[in-house]
Amino acid sequence: ATAARKSLTIGLIPADGIGKEVIPAARTAIEAVGSDIPPPKFVDLVAGFEHFTRKGVALPEETIEVLKNDCDCALFGSVSSPSKKVAGYSSPIVALRKILDLYANIRPVVSVSPDPSKPSAVDMIVVRENTECLYVKQEQQTVGEHGREARATRLITERASTRIGQMAFELALARPRKHLTVIHKSNVLSITDGLFRESVRAIPAKEPRFEAVTVAEQLVDSAVYRLFREPQIYDVMVAPNLYGDILSDAAAALVGSLGVVPSVNAGDSFVMGEPVHGSAPDIYGQGIANPVASIRSAALMLRHLGYTQAADRIDNAVDSVLREGQFLTPDLNGSAKTVQVADAIVKRI
Ligand code: ATP
Ligand code: MG
Repeated sequence: ATAARKSLTIGLIPADGIGKEVIPAARTAIEAVGSDIPPPKFVDLVAGFEHFTRKGVALPEETIEVLKNDCDCALFGSVSSPSKKVAGYSSPIVALRKILDLYANIRPVVSVSPDPSKPSAVDMIVVRENTECLYVKQEQQTVGEHGREARATRLITERASTRIGQMAFELALARPRKHLTVIHKSNVLSITDGLFRESVRAIPAKEPRFEAVTVAEQLVDSAVYRLFREPQIYDVMVAPNLYGDILSDAAAALVGSLGVVPSVNAGDSFVMGEPVHGSAPDIYGQGIANPVASIRSAALMLRHLGYTQAADRIDNAVDSVLREGQFLTPDLNGSAKTVQVADAIVKRI
Protein backbone atom coordinates (compact mmCIF):
# COMPACT_ATOMS: atom_id res chain seq x y z
CA ALA A 1 0.00 0.00 0.00
CA THR A 2 2.86 2.38 0.82
CA ALA A 3 4.53 1.97 -2.57
CA ALA A 4 1.35 3.02 -4.32
CA ARG A 5 1.23 6.56 -2.95
CA LYS A 6 2.24 9.39 -5.29
CA SER A 7 2.07 11.90 -2.48
CA LEU A 8 1.41 11.82 1.22
CA THR A 9 -1.33 14.13 2.45
CA ILE A 10 -0.88 15.01 6.11
CA GLY A 11 -3.52 16.89 8.10
CA LEU A 12 -1.99 19.25 10.69
CA ILE A 13 -4.20 20.07 13.68
CA PRO A 14 -2.14 22.12 16.15
CA ALA A 15 -5.27 22.92 18.23
CA ASP A 16 -4.49 24.71 21.54
CA GLY A 17 -1.54 26.11 23.49
CA ILE A 18 1.90 24.68 22.78
CA GLY A 19 0.35 22.47 20.08
CA LYS A 20 0.73 25.61 17.93
CA GLU A 21 4.47 25.70 18.67
CA VAL A 22 5.38 22.02 18.40
CA ILE A 23 3.34 20.90 15.36
CA PRO A 24 5.16 23.32 13.00
CA ALA A 25 8.42 21.86 14.37
CA ALA A 26 7.22 18.34 13.53
CA ARG A 27 6.35 19.52 10.03
CA THR A 28 9.93 20.68 9.42
CA ALA A 29 11.22 17.25 10.48
CA ILE A 30 8.90 15.50 7.99
CA GLU A 31 9.97 17.88 5.22
CA ALA A 32 13.60 17.07 5.98
CA VAL A 33 13.35 13.33 5.21
CA GLY A 34 13.05 14.06 1.51
CA SER A 35 12.73 11.12 -0.84
CA ASP A 36 12.28 8.51 1.91
CA ILE A 37 8.58 9.37 1.70
CA PRO A 38 6.33 10.44 -1.20
CA PRO A 39 6.24 14.26 -1.52
CA PRO A 40 4.26 15.42 1.52
CA LYS A 41 1.29 17.76 1.19
CA PHE A 42 0.27 19.51 4.39
CA VAL A 43 -3.29 20.60 5.11
CA ASP A 44 -3.85 23.01 8.01
CA LEU A 45 -6.95 22.13 10.00
CA VAL A 46 -8.63 23.69 13.01
CA ALA A 47 -10.06 22.19 16.20
CA GLY A 48 -9.77 22.78 19.92
CA PHE A 49 -11.03 24.68 22.91
CA GLU A 50 -9.80 28.05 21.63
CA HIS A 51 -11.71 27.50 18.39
CA PHE A 52 -14.75 26.58 20.47
CA THR A 53 -14.61 29.80 22.48
CA ARG A 54 -14.38 31.85 19.28
CA LYS A 55 -16.68 29.95 16.94
CA GLY A 56 -18.81 27.72 19.16
CA VAL A 57 -17.52 24.43 17.70
CA ALA A 58 -14.59 22.35 18.95
CA LEU A 59 -14.38 20.11 15.90
CA PRO A 60 -15.65 21.73 12.68
CA GLU A 61 -17.37 19.48 10.16
CA GLU A 62 -14.86 20.62 7.52
CA THR A 63 -11.94 19.29 9.57
CA ILE A 64 -13.61 15.90 9.79
CA GLU A 65 -14.45 15.80 6.07
CA VAL A 66 -10.94 16.78 4.97
CA LEU A 67 -9.36 14.19 7.27
CA LYS A 68 -11.70 11.47 5.99
CA ASN A 69 -11.58 12.32 2.30
CA ASP A 70 -8.20 13.90 1.59
CA CYS A 71 -5.69 12.87 4.23
CA ASP A 72 -3.52 9.77 4.52
CA CYS A 73 -2.68 10.56 8.13
CA ALA A 74 -2.62 13.47 10.58
CA LEU A 75 -0.71 15.11 13.39
CA PHE A 76 -2.64 16.49 16.34
CA GLY A 77 -1.13 18.98 18.82
CA SER A 78 -2.94 19.30 22.12
CA VAL A 79 -6.21 20.53 23.53
CA SER A 80 -6.62 22.49 26.72
CA SER A 81 -9.16 20.90 28.97
CA PRO A 82 -11.39 23.47 30.73
CA SER A 83 -11.18 22.95 34.51
CA LYS A 84 -14.96 23.03 34.83
CA LYS A 85 -17.53 21.44 32.56
CA VAL A 86 -18.39 23.89 29.77
CA ALA A 87 -21.85 23.59 28.21
CA GLY A 88 -21.68 22.40 24.62
CA TYR A 89 -17.97 21.55 24.69
CA SER A 90 -16.55 18.09 24.34
CA SER A 91 -13.01 17.09 23.54
CA PRO A 92 -12.23 17.03 19.79
CA ILE A 93 -9.51 14.41 20.19
CA VAL A 94 -11.89 11.97 21.87
CA ALA A 95 -14.41 12.61 19.08
CA LEU A 96 -11.77 12.11 16.36
CA ARG A 97 -10.70 8.76 17.81
CA LYS A 98 -14.31 7.65 17.57
CA ILE A 99 -15.11 9.11 14.13
CA LEU A 100 -11.95 7.71 12.51
CA ASP A 101 -12.16 4.45 14.50
CA LEU A 102 -8.66 4.87 15.90
CA TYR A 103 -8.96 1.93 18.26
CA ALA A 104 -5.35 1.68 19.36
CA ASN A 105 -3.25 4.14 21.31
CA ILE A 106 0.39 3.24 20.82
CA ARG A 107 2.98 4.80 23.11
CA PRO A 108 6.63 3.87 22.84
CA VAL A 109 8.58 4.82 25.95
CA VAL A 110 12.30 4.88 25.27
CA SER A 111 15.19 6.32 27.22
CA VAL A 112 18.18 7.59 25.28
CA SER A 113 21.26 5.58 26.12
CA PRO A 114 24.28 7.85 26.75
CA ASP A 115 26.42 5.47 24.70
CA PRO A 116 24.87 4.79 21.27
CA SER A 117 26.40 1.30 21.16
CA LYS A 118 24.59 0.28 24.40
CA PRO A 119 20.88 -0.58 24.55
CA SER A 120 18.44 1.84 26.21
CA ALA A 121 17.55 1.18 29.84
CA VAL A 122 13.86 1.61 29.03
CA ASP A 123 12.55 0.53 25.63
CA MET A 124 8.92 -0.50 25.59
CA ILE A 125 5.64 0.13 23.82
CA VAL A 126 2.38 0.43 25.70
CA VAL A 127 -0.57 -0.53 23.49
CA ARG A 128 -3.80 0.76 24.94
CA GLU A 129 -7.31 -0.13 23.76
CA ASN A 130 -8.90 3.18 22.87
CA THR A 131 -12.66 2.65 22.51
CA GLU A 132 -14.25 0.83 25.42
CA CYS A 133 -13.69 -0.31 29.04
CA LEU A 134 -14.86 2.32 31.58
CA TYR A 135 -14.49 5.03 28.92
CA VAL A 136 -17.88 4.19 27.44
CA LYS A 137 -18.93 6.75 30.07
CA GLN A 138 -22.15 5.10 31.14
CA GLU A 139 -22.46 6.27 34.70
CA GLN A 140 -25.44 6.72 36.90
CA GLN A 141 -26.23 7.83 40.37
CA THR A 142 -29.21 6.61 42.33
CA VAL A 143 -30.32 6.91 45.94
CA GLY A 144 -30.35 3.70 47.91
CA GLU A 145 -31.25 2.80 51.46
CA HIS A 146 -27.97 4.20 52.81
CA GLY A 147 -27.59 7.25 50.59
CA ARG A 148 -26.27 7.94 47.12
CA GLU A 149 -24.92 5.15 44.97
CA ALA A 150 -22.92 5.54 41.77
CA ARG A 151 -22.33 2.93 39.11
CA ALA A 152 -20.31 2.78 35.91
CA THR A 153 -20.53 0.26 33.10
CA ARG A 154 -17.35 -1.36 31.91
CA LEU A 155 -17.61 -2.77 28.42
CA ILE A 156 -15.12 -5.32 27.12
CA THR A 157 -15.86 -7.00 23.79
CA GLU A 158 -14.17 -9.91 22.08
CA ARG A 159 -13.93 -7.89 18.84
CA ALA A 160 -12.16 -4.88 20.38
CA SER A 161 -9.90 -7.07 22.52
CA THR A 162 -8.94 -9.20 19.53
CA ARG A 163 -8.14 -6.29 17.24
CA ILE A 164 -6.04 -4.49 19.84
CA GLY A 165 -4.34 -7.80 20.58
CA GLN A 166 -3.53 -8.32 16.90
CA MET A 167 -2.03 -4.85 16.68
CA ALA A 168 0.11 -5.62 19.76
CA PHE A 169 1.29 -8.96 18.33
CA GLU A 170 2.16 -7.22 15.08
CA LEU A 171 4.26 -4.62 16.90
CA ALA A 172 5.96 -7.25 19.06
CA LEU A 173 6.79 -9.36 16.01
CA ALA A 174 8.60 -6.43 14.40
CA ARG A 175 10.86 -5.89 17.43
CA PRO A 176 14.07 -7.75 18.26
CA ARG A 177 12.80 -9.23 21.54
CA LYS A 178 9.33 -10.23 20.29
CA HIS A 179 7.85 -10.26 23.76
CA LEU A 180 4.28 -9.36 24.69
CA THR A 181 2.86 -8.85 28.19
CA VAL A 182 -0.93 -8.98 28.55
CA ILE A 183 -2.14 -6.75 31.37
CA HIS A 184 -5.36 -7.53 33.21
CA LYS A 185 -6.92 -8.10 36.62
CA SER A 186 -8.83 -11.28 35.94
CA ASN A 187 -8.30 -12.60 39.45
CA VAL A 188 -10.90 -10.01 40.55
CA LEU A 189 -12.77 -9.15 37.35
CA SER A 190 -12.95 -12.62 35.90
CA ILE A 191 -15.69 -11.87 33.36
CA THR A 192 -14.52 -8.58 31.84
CA ASP A 193 -10.76 -8.90 32.24
CA GLY A 194 -11.17 -12.62 31.66
CA LEU A 195 -12.60 -11.93 28.21
CA PHE A 196 -9.81 -9.47 27.38
CA ARG A 197 -7.15 -11.97 28.43
CA GLU A 198 -8.74 -14.91 26.61
CA SER A 199 -9.28 -12.92 23.41
CA VAL A 200 -5.64 -11.84 23.26
CA ARG A 201 -4.27 -15.26 24.19
CA ALA A 202 -6.37 -16.92 21.50
CA ILE A 203 -4.72 -14.94 18.68
CA PRO A 204 -1.56 -17.00 17.92
CA ALA A 205 -3.59 -20.18 17.37
CA LYS A 206 -5.45 -18.35 14.59
CA GLU A 207 -2.38 -16.59 13.16
CA PRO A 208 0.61 -18.92 13.39
CA ARG A 209 3.16 -16.23 12.44
CA PHE A 210 2.49 -14.73 15.87
CA GLU A 211 3.80 -17.92 17.49
CA ALA A 212 7.25 -16.32 17.24
CA VAL A 213 6.16 -13.90 19.96
CA THR A 214 6.61 -14.99 23.58
CA VAL A 215 3.61 -14.08 25.70
CA ALA A 216 3.50 -13.30 29.42
CA GLU A 217 0.65 -12.05 31.58
CA GLN A 218 0.61 -9.73 34.49
CA LEU A 219 -1.92 -8.33 36.92
CA VAL A 220 -2.06 -4.56 36.51
CA ASP A 221 -1.01 -3.74 40.08
CA SER A 222 2.07 -5.91 39.91
CA ALA A 223 2.80 -4.51 36.44
CA VAL A 224 3.05 -0.97 37.84
CA TYR A 225 5.33 -2.19 40.61
CA ARG A 226 7.64 -4.02 38.25
CA LEU A 227 7.56 -1.16 35.76
CA PHE A 228 9.28 1.00 38.37
CA ARG A 229 11.57 -1.73 39.74
CA GLU A 230 12.74 -3.36 36.52
CA PRO A 231 11.41 -1.57 33.42
CA GLN A 232 13.82 -3.53 31.22
CA ILE A 233 11.64 -6.68 31.47
CA TYR A 234 9.02 -5.08 29.23
CA ASP A 235 8.96 -5.04 25.46
CA VAL A 236 5.34 -4.62 24.30
CA MET A 237 2.46 -4.37 26.78
CA VAL A 238 -1.20 -4.60 25.80
CA ALA A 239 -3.96 -3.42 28.12
CA PRO A 240 -7.63 -2.47 28.30
CA ASN A 241 -8.32 1.27 28.14
CA LEU A 242 -8.10 2.35 31.81
CA TYR A 243 -5.07 0.24 32.76
CA GLY A 244 -3.37 1.33 29.55
CA ASP A 245 -4.03 4.99 30.35
CA ILE A 246 -2.44 4.67 33.79
CA LEU A 247 0.46 2.47 32.68
CA SER A 248 1.44 4.69 29.77
CA ASP A 249 1.58 7.84 31.93
CA ALA A 250 3.50 5.93 34.60
CA ALA A 251 5.95 4.64 31.98
CA ALA A 252 6.42 8.19 30.68
CA ALA A 253 7.66 9.19 34.14
CA LEU A 254 10.58 6.80 33.66
CA VAL A 255 12.07 8.81 30.82
CA GLY A 256 12.23 12.30 32.29
CA SER A 257 9.84 14.71 30.64
CA LEU A 258 6.35 14.63 29.17
CA GLY A 259 7.92 16.72 26.43
CA VAL A 260 9.63 13.69 24.86
CA VAL A 261 6.87 11.05 24.83
CA PRO A 262 5.06 10.45 21.52
CA SER A 263 1.99 8.44 20.59
CA VAL A 264 -0.15 7.50 17.66
CA ASN A 265 -3.84 6.76 17.54
CA ALA A 266 -4.24 4.03 14.97
CA GLY A 267 -7.04 2.19 13.25
CA ASP A 268 -7.21 -0.07 10.21
CA SER A 269 -7.40 2.82 7.76
CA PHE A 270 -6.03 5.92 9.47
CA VAL A 271 -3.24 6.95 11.81
CA MET A 272 -2.88 10.14 13.81
CA GLY A 273 0.29 11.16 15.65
CA GLU A 274 -0.17 13.01 18.94
CA PRO A 275 2.34 14.04 21.63
CA VAL A 276 1.33 12.63 25.01
CA HIS A 277 1.54 16.01 26.75
CA GLY A 278 -1.27 18.57 26.99
CA SER A 279 -1.43 22.23 26.00
CA ALA A 280 0.92 23.35 28.82
CA PRO A 281 -0.66 26.77 29.49
CA ASP A 282 2.12 27.49 32.01
CA ILE A 283 4.76 27.76 29.27
CA TYR A 284 2.69 28.58 26.18
CA GLY A 285 3.83 31.65 24.24
CA GLN A 286 7.44 31.59 25.42
CA GLY A 287 8.73 29.45 22.57
CA ILE A 288 10.33 26.96 24.95
CA ALA A 289 8.06 23.92 24.53
CA ASN A 290 9.98 20.74 23.81
CA PRO A 291 9.22 19.69 20.21
CA VAL A 292 10.67 16.17 20.66
CA ALA A 293 7.35 14.49 21.58
CA SER A 294 5.74 15.84 18.40
CA ILE A 295 8.72 15.08 16.19
CA ARG A 296 8.81 11.53 17.51
CA SER A 297 5.03 11.30 16.97
CA ALA A 298 5.61 12.23 13.33
CA ALA A 299 8.24 9.47 13.09
CA LEU A 300 5.87 6.98 14.69
CA MET A 301 3.12 7.95 12.27
CA LEU A 302 5.45 7.40 9.30
CA ARG A 303 6.62 4.09 10.79
CA HIS A 304 3.02 2.95 11.12
CA LEU A 305 2.47 3.76 7.43
CA GLY A 306 5.46 1.57 6.54
CA TYR A 307 8.08 4.31 6.00
CA THR A 308 10.58 2.66 8.30
CA GLN A 309 13.67 4.34 6.91
CA ALA A 310 12.22 7.84 7.22
CA ALA A 311 11.09 7.07 10.78
CA ASP A 312 14.53 5.72 11.72
CA ARG A 313 16.22 8.82 10.35
CA ILE A 314 14.04 11.12 12.43
CA ASP A 315 14.43 9.02 15.59
CA ASN A 316 18.19 8.74 15.18
CA ALA A 317 18.47 12.50 14.68
CA VAL A 318 16.44 13.10 17.86
CA ASP A 319 18.62 10.62 19.78
CA SER A 320 21.84 12.35 18.71
CA VAL A 321 20.57 15.80 19.59
CA LEU A 322 19.42 14.60 23.03
CA ARG A 323 22.66 12.72 23.60
CA GLU A 324 24.81 15.70 22.63
CA GLY A 325 22.91 17.89 25.06
CA GLN A 326 23.76 21.17 23.37
CA PHE A 327 20.19 21.98 22.31
CA LEU A 328 17.77 21.06 25.07
CA THR A 329 14.63 22.88 26.21
CA PRO A 330 14.19 23.89 29.89
CA ASP A 331 12.13 20.77 30.78
CA LEU A 332 15.37 18.83 30.12
CA ASN A 333 17.41 21.42 32.05
CA GLY A 334 18.62 23.19 28.92
CA SER A 335 18.05 26.74 27.72
CA ALA A 336 17.27 26.22 24.04
CA LYS A 337 14.12 27.38 22.32
CA THR A 338 11.66 25.14 20.48
CA VAL A 339 12.94 26.26 17.08
CA GLN A 340 16.60 25.73 17.99
CA VAL A 341 15.94 22.14 19.01
CA ALA A 342 13.89 21.56 15.86
CA ASP A 343 16.63 23.11 13.69
CA ALA A 344 19.30 20.94 15.29
CA ILE A 345 17.18 17.84 14.61
CA VAL A 346 16.46 18.90 11.03
CA LYS A 347 20.19 19.38 10.40
CA ARG A 348 20.88 15.86 11.70
CA ILE A 349 18.16 14.37 9.50
P1 ATP B 1 -3.74 20.25 29.81
O1 ATP B 1 -4.98 20.51 30.54
O2 ATP B 1 -3.76 20.78 28.41
O3 ATP B 1 -3.28 18.80 29.88
P2 ATP B 1 -1.73 20.75 31.82
O4 ATP B 1 -1.64 21.94 32.69
O5 ATP B 1 -2.12 19.44 32.39
O6 ATP B 1 -2.60 21.11 30.55
P3 ATP B 1 0.35 19.43 30.40
O7 ATP B 1 0.53 19.88 29.03
O8 ATP B 1 -0.34 18.14 30.63
O9 ATP B 1 -0.31 20.62 31.17
O10 ATP B 1 1.78 19.46 31.07
C1 ATP B 1 2.09 19.17 32.42
C2 ATP B 1 3.43 19.82 32.75
O11 ATP B 1 4.45 19.38 31.84
C3 ATP B 1 3.39 21.34 32.62
O12 ATP B 1 4.17 21.92 33.64
C4 ATP B 1 4.02 21.61 31.27
O13 ATP B 1 4.67 22.84 31.19
C5 ATP B 1 5.01 20.47 31.12
N1 ATP B 1 5.10 20.12 29.69
C6 ATP B 1 4.18 19.45 28.95
N2 ATP B 1 4.54 19.34 27.68
C7 ATP B 1 5.73 19.95 27.57
C8 ATP B 1 6.62 20.19 26.48
N3 ATP B 1 6.37 19.77 25.23
N4 ATP B 1 7.75 20.88 26.74
C9 ATP B 1 8.02 21.32 27.96
N5 ATP B 1 7.24 21.13 29.03
C10 ATP B 1 6.09 20.46 28.85
MG1 MG C 1 -2.34 17.45 31.43
